[in-house]
Amino acid sequence: MESVVNDETERICAYSGCKRLFDGRKDKMYCSDQCRNAAGREKKKVAKWEEPEHFGQINRIIMRNYQILKRLYNGTLTPVKNWQLSDEGFEFKFMTGIYRLDEGIDIYMCYEYGWYQLSDNKIRIYSVPPLFLTGMAKVTKDG
Ligand SMILES: [Zn+2]
Repeated sequence: MESVVNDETERICAYSGCKRLFDGRKDKMYCSDQCRNAAGREKKKVAKWEEPEHFGQINRIIMRNYQILKRLYNGTLTPVKNWQLSDEGFEFKFMTGIYRLDEGIDIYMCYEYGWYQLSDNKIRIYSVPPLFLTGMAKVTKDG
């Protein structure tokens, strides 16, 4: 027998594990609450994104950089020697962003702490209020 689906009443359940014909309103997608819930769970599973392994490794490097900067920050802009950071495992190529000071100096940031490379193998550590950093991110998004 040929099965013709009438748009007004006969529907096919949208849950892939069911696909049953059922009677219902035009906007009804599932034959039952169980199917609606099951479909919702399935959607969630698909939407759940698997974080690549190297994300964790990079995040740990940035966190370590952050902790080293925080520990060595002296609040006076007195330069610190590069080896003081690298001895503790600081990775100069990893950062969360670049913050430009009014003087046109670019500070490499790890969250709210950043550094500026001076010429004689020394760096200067800065602390930028997180509000400034997130404000900067907002400008990027809107622009
Ligand atoms: Zn169903």
